[in-house]
Amino acid sequence: MSIARHELHTYLQNLLQPHLFKDYCPNGLQVEGAQHIDKLVLGVTASQALIDAAIERQAQGIIVHHGYFWKSEPEVIVGMKQRRIKSLLLNDINLWAYHLPLDCHGQLGNNAQLGDLLGWQWQGFIEGDGPTGLGLWAELPKAMSAAAITSHVQQKLGRQVLHVAPDDRPIKRIGWCTGGAQGYIDKAAALGLDAYISGEISESTVHSARENGIHYFAAGHHATERGGAQALALHLQSELGIHCEFVDIDSPA
Ligand SMILES: [Zn+2]
Repeated sequence: MSIARHELHTYLQNLLQPHLFKDYCPNGLQVEGAQHIDKLVLGVTASQALIDAAIERQAQGIIVHHGYFWKSEPEVIVGMKQRRIKSLLLNDINLWAYHLPLDCHGQLGNNAQLGDLLGWQWQGFIEGDGPTGLGLWAELPKAMSAAAITSHVQQKLGRQVLHVAPDDRPIKRIGWCTGGAQGYIDKAAALGLDAYISGEISESTVHSARENGIHYFAAGHHATERGGAQALALHLQSELGIHCEFVDIDSPA
């Protein structure tokens, strides 16, 4: 089975609805490659290692959560960015990137997938609402200690979790937003949640946790954002019949 690039593009745009989002990067096709695709590699970040994995597999396309051309980055194509883009162009590989659309999708999104992985039925959003709502929260069927939450998340994500405790309160209502979303801790506290999970931690997150009275768990930016690309790979393979492989380039961050 193979699919034309423009057909796959239309399918992805309909599925992930990037026009609904105000984002820090262009969502959709970022680098154009071959016109026909029968093999796709999916991953968290369009790093050189992921591109090399796609070349090795003779894939004609890559889909990632973290692509290129972020608002804050230099616009010139030199150094690491030149090497990555050169590899894509020389090997005729298409690159699609979906940032917020792949965080927020109701089933395939990083946040929905993290909830599924942890076995938590989400009930509302941390920020915004509907298809662009960012971050989710759930009421646990029964209160858990922070130590029990830590070991559950560690076991499911296969990595260490850093926990900041405001006190020894048990956790009943818990929110989460994958990746670099530690800044939403104050919104999570304002919602009256007992705990909030994200990927990264900043110096200021510790003080927000202590002073706003909310447990904080940093579970890894990469580790919390594997779910979206993984779920999208399974979805595209079953819906479009093309070969899709999620390639995990491990990252301690
Ligand atoms: Zn991210």
